[in-house]
Amino acid sequence: MALKKNDEFVIDIEDMSVDGEGIGKYEGMTFFVKDALIGDTVRAKVMKLKKTYGYARLMEILKPSADRVDPVCRFHRQCGGCQIQALSYEKQLEFKQEKVENNLRRIGGFRNIPMEPIIGMEEPFHYRNKAQFPVGKDKEGHIITGFYAGRTHQIIPNRDCALGIPANKEILDIVIDFMETYQIEPYDEMSGTGLVRHILIRAGFQTGELMVCLIINGDELPHQEALIEKLTKIKGMTSISVNRNTKKSNVILGDRTKTIWGQPYITDYIGDVKYQISPVSFFQVNPVQTKAMYDLALEYADLSGGEVLWDLYCGIGTISLFLAQKAEKVYGVEIIPQAIEDARKNAAVNEIQNAEFFVGKAEEILPEFYEKEKAAGKKAYADVIVVDPPRKGCDTKLLETILKMAPSKVVYVSCDSATLARDLKILCGGGYQLKRVRPIDNFCQSTHVEVVTLLQRMSHIREKTNAHSCIRCAPIV
Ligand code: SAH
Repeated sequence: MALKKNDEFVIDIEDMSVDGEGIGKYEGMTFFVKDALIGDTVRAKVMKLKKTYGYARLMEILKPSADRVDPVCRFHRQCGGCQIQALSYEKQLEFKQEKVENNLRRIGGFRNIPMEPIIGMEEPFHYRNKAQFPVGKDKEGHIITGFYAGRTHQIIPNRDCALGIPANKEILDIVIDFMETYQIEPYDEMSGTGLVRHILIRAGFQTGELMVCLIINGDELPHQEALIEKLTKIKGMTSISVNRNTKKSNVILGDRTKTIWGQPYITDYIGDVKYQISPVSFFQVNPVQTKAMYDLALEYADLSGGEVLWDLYCGIGTISLFLAQKAEKVYGVEIIPQAIEDARKNAAVNEIQNAEFFVGKAEEILPEFYEKEKAAGKKAYADVIVVDPPRKGCDTKLLETILKMAPSKVVYVSCDSATLARDLKILCGGGYQLKRVRPIDNFCQSTHVEVVTLLQRMSHIREKTNAHSCIRCAPIV
């Protein structure tokens, strides 16, 4: 008899989706079971049925997979953050390595992929230097803070996330205690009333500096002195601020930040480069793995000191400044003006003079630069182009310009191996060869993975349209 919604059934899990759900077959139907692992036999309940597949909820593990471990966090199933915490770390790394390779094969059409082993962490917990905790009330009216349940805005009270730093709990206890003492209301999303929306905490892993920023639905935090007095007793406290966000939207930070104690920023290092980080700055959340990732980008770029580089999607210039130390000149491009302000400031802080930054879309700035040079009778030149786009990958117009500029190397840093595969296919169709691929686990316990790849221009590429000319030797057309 065919299954109906809410029916329970027993299923063996044989595969894992890219989003970490267990996959099994039952009477010819494929089922996706969140939180079930390859090798598990589970009792599951039908949640949604389609023609040939369905989604089911894990009800009971009848026979656990050999790769199952005791999850560190008891909220791991509810919270949206750690999709695969119950999988042994070794298997998590294997899963990510295969995910990248499969995408390159399936979407990119690559064969004999030069995969290098994923760089994992020695301690895959407590790696995040930033957390934003929503504040609300439970059914009994107690003030709570923690994390949103997956795909909802229901707060799961948890002040001690296993991915965060131990100081998070200390800080959250103080803030919630302060709110209770002075009857400061948390923000209510439905009515738009109440004051405290989020508590943002950042830490400098090298410096030990701490930042606390309260995002509030108003201008002033009443009795702030009492909060400051408590928070400043915590070792490393460097910056306390309030950020005003009175908009009814999901965007966490508003556009005005007021420092109420200490400095407006904290400082941290990646390698030898120093970064000043404000509450609104973008900064990679896993500094240990970021260092490994930038080291790898540097290794792939293989600089000797005289090169001209472009760092597209540069954020606050982290990769640009890292590479500038080993290059003649680095140009960074980023869409967010505030991030470019930070990039310029960080260049100055580090006395780096060979990095120049532009605000705008990479797919507009680079083509415009190319056309301008061409109009002046020159060929826009780059030895290496580094791209580190958001999940949606690079715009085709940008990829076309990269092909026209024909740098000898492209280093593509990606947080989504599906769009990476799509873009690499275009670049390799235009004369590049995929030389090196290495995943990096920046987001342990989740299904996300970063990848650094190296593309090298083949020396003599015959253009499809003209069998007698090669891209390098051809005049600019
Ligand atoms: N390389 C940086 C940031 C990478 S995140 C680092 O390692 O820290 C991707 C960045 O691309 C974000 O800062 C985002 O604001 C920026 N971005 C998104 N779309 C863009 C576009 N079309 N052109 C330029 N930058 C863009």
